[in-house]
Amino acid sequence: MPSSLSGRVILLTGAGSGIGRGTAIKLHGLGAILAITDINEAGIAETLELCGSSNTNSTSHHTSLALDVSKAADVEKCVMDVVSRYGHIDHVFNCAGINPTSMPLTETSEDYFDKLVGVNLKGTYNVTKATIPHMTTPGGSYVNVSSISGWNPSAGTAIYCATKFGVIGFSKCMALELGPKGLRVNVVAPGYIDTPTNAGIAKGTAEARGRMEQGNALGRMGTPDDIAGVVAFLMGDEARYMNGSVVEIDGMLKT
Ligand code: NAP
Repeated sequence: MPSSLSGRVILLTGAGSGIGRGTAIKLHGLGAILAITDINEAGIAETLELCGSSNTNSTSHHTSLALDVSKAADVEKCVMDVVSRYGHIDHVFNCAGINPTSMPLTETSEDYFDKLVGVNLKGTYNVTKATIPHMTTPGGSYVNVSSISGWNPSAGTAIYCATKFGVIGFSKCMALELGPKGLRVNVVAPGYIDTPTNAGIAKGTAEARGRMEQGNALGRMGTPDDIAGVVAFLMGDEARYMNGSVVEIDGMLKT
């Protein structure tokens, strides 16, 4: 059976690494046409290559575009570039984000606060706002990336938690606002995923990795592909009555 995402135009942010890249590869495999964006230009070039493409002007091929989601004007321009090429957008994966560095609030700076809020929360707002007028209605959808930190507080990550709680609140409001237009908005909330900027992976110690592996009932870290399959499901027709849902993908966190 052909995938319901075949030929669909999907804009991904943060697709130059980790979960965003893994999701791009999955959606490519399902026949979607991808606008692969990230602040990291080398990263998107590599993702594009992993999806078997290079940049051309063809409307049936993927494209890659450098994008800092925290800058509203850049987001507007990028979305216009995508729309002038493909005519519309079917689905958006709001994945760009800064993972947490655990530290007491007194050690955080205004710059750190602005960076996390600017990318994780304002970035989701910027991309959503700019894409709404160009989304396929009915049938389009957004999948936004929160985290287990979107409902599960932990000491040392107050700012990251605030952004990821915020993504859930924002997404649920948008699900109500956009539902009547036939646009769905859902959230994935990953647990410990093996990506370069995951706090434990960044520490690089066996002890940090072991804590994450043993911190969930399945006894291993998740992979970007573990998230990608759920994102594809949420975008596809099988999830047509899911709106405002938050899907935990964490192997069942131990409390
Ligand atoms: P990752 O491998 O570091 O990928 C994140 C990508 O976003 C990087 O390519 C990064 O570029 C890019 N980025 C950073 N700032 C950006 C900006 N202003 N505009 C556009 N792109 C930007 O991290 P990941 O773990 O896959 O994270 C993806 C999402 O999942 C994030 O929202 C993260 O909070 C969330 N998440 C991750 C985990 C986990 O355990 N890994 C768990 C829960 C939620 P640079 O490399 O140049 O910074």
